[in-house]
Amino acid sequence: MDSTLKERIAGTLAPTLRGPVVLPPDPDFDDARRVYNGMIDRRPAAIVRCADVTDVMATVNFARENSERLAVRGGGHNAAGLGVADDAIVADLGRLRGVHVNPDAATARVSGGCTLGDLDHATHAFGLAVTGGIVSTTGVGGLTLGGGLGYLARKCGLTIDNLLEVDMVLADGRFVTANEKENADLFWAVRGGGGNFGVATSFVFRLHPVSTVYAGPTLWRVEDTVEMLAAYRGWMEEHDADTDFYGFFLVQRLPAAEPFPPELRGKTVCGVMWCMTGTIEQAENALKPVRAARKPILDWAGPMPYPALQSMFDPFYPAGMQWYWKADFVGELSDKAIEINAEYGKDSPGTLSSTHLYPVDGVASRVGPTETAWGYRDAKWAQVIVGVDPHPKNRDAITRWSKSYWEALHPHSLGGAYINFMMEEGQERIQATYRGNYDRLAAVKRKYDPRNFFNANQNIKPAGHRQTA
Ligand SMILES: Cc1cc2nc3c(=O)[nH]c(=O)nc-3n(C[C@H](O)[C@H](O)[C@H](O)COP(=O)(O)OP(=O)(O)OC[C@H]3O[C@@H](n4cnc5c(N)ncnc54)[C@H](O)[C@@H]3O)c2cc1C
Repeated sequence: MDSTLKERIAGTLAPTLRGPVVLPPDPDFDDARRVYNGMIDRRPAAIVRCADVTDVMATVNFARENSERLAVRGGGHNAAGLGVADDAIVADLGRLRGVHVNPDAATARVSGGCTLGDLDHATHAFGLAVTGGIVSTTGVGGLTLGGGLGYLARKCGLTIDNLLEVDMVLADGRFVTANEKENADLFWAVRGGGGNFGVATSFVFRLHPVSTVYAGPTLWRVEDTVEMLAAYRGWMEEHDADTDFYGFFLVQRLPAAEPFPPELRGKTVCGVMWCMTGTIEQAENALKPVRAARKPILDWAGPMPYPALQSMFDPFYPAGMQWYWKADFVGELSDKAIEINAEYGKDSPGTLSSTHLYPVDGVASRVGPTETAWGYRDAKWAQVIVGVDPHPKNRDAITRWSKSYWEALHPHSLGGAYINFMMEEGQERIQATYRGNYDRLAAVKRKYDPRNFFNANQNIKPAGHRQTA
């Protein structure tokens, strides 16, 4: 880092902050710059561990006034590692962790650096929940701004469908609130448009009475993928109107570890992760045909607290592994697509690779395509293909597998992908994510961030702007 920047940080930024600034060669610099995906190795100029909203405003102002690039880090889980950028100043929100639940109003105000685990922990105490992703260390910030899908998507909609308000620090340093009435254009854009418009310092969510769910995996042999994926398609069709019925299909290498039985450890299987939100009796009735279709090789579905389900994948996916992501939205799941999933799914090179088909229909599909920035309300699934392995030496193999799997499947998709499941794949893929909403997003970007200050993200260019950052 150039020494004058270091002096300017020490002279003008650091004294105004409550949180520390981590700079090279501080002993914790390497730890502070690391993100969840071990494939990402970026060296920012400085990392500001923001302690409060004032620190966020100071960091934004300092970066802008000194013409430095800014990256904003929530939970650091982004596939493409967008919470950190080379030579940038990182506003790390990891200390903004408060959750305030209002049980009477069934809402929660959630600070911008919270993880899903923080959110579920706080709301579960009141028997309430909101849609969030399947690994509890994921940041609420990045997940929400990109859309947010998870086990409650059919019952409660996407995370953004439950967003009532957001507080933000804009590129010019102003602090604003956006909701249906105030800054409504900004509120529209942040519901899917990612971190393009400012730093979200808190979110207010509508909560739902979800506490115990009937959930967990039912697994079959990978050789049965064609049969079971076709059967799963049929179960989802049958339960189209029943939003308590949720299951995502997976083809997955199981961890070579407990609690899996020795004969399944390290094996690739197919199956469904269930999350039924009705009564136990309803769930068991709904699963009768599933259990009767073909005898599962493992069936752990049963009643459990919602946060237990939300953290079920956590132990198998510690931070720092190699991840290569490819994704698409799926409308109708054709027989041909089922065959391709069976063919590629069984051959993954990574020791924890998978494909997941997450339902995004039900309540999520009852929101209009232009009501929020999320452009695929007609999709039935958001599919993700992830090559995952602990060893950097397998990086190329998992990348090749994910890409070739995706290339074979892409013609059977709706064309675009969930923005939070993408690596850095270029403008064409970003535009495909937003379909007809892209131009409106670009116009909102021009209004709130005309110089494209927030560009360490899946970047939406301000309308009429030529910068290529
Ligand atoms: C293991 C794993 C499981 C996942 N499961 C799911 C899932 O079930 N459902 C789902 O929807 N997604 C899931 N995701 C994807 C996840 O939504 C994205 O990775 C998301 O970007 C993570 O947000 P983050 O805050 O952790 O990321 P970060 O890397 O910190 O940030 C990602 C982007 O969001 C921006 N950002 C983050 N917080 C803020 C903020 N407060 N204000 C402004 N900008 C911000 C950053 O600048 C960056 O551009 C999963 C990811 C992983 C790694």
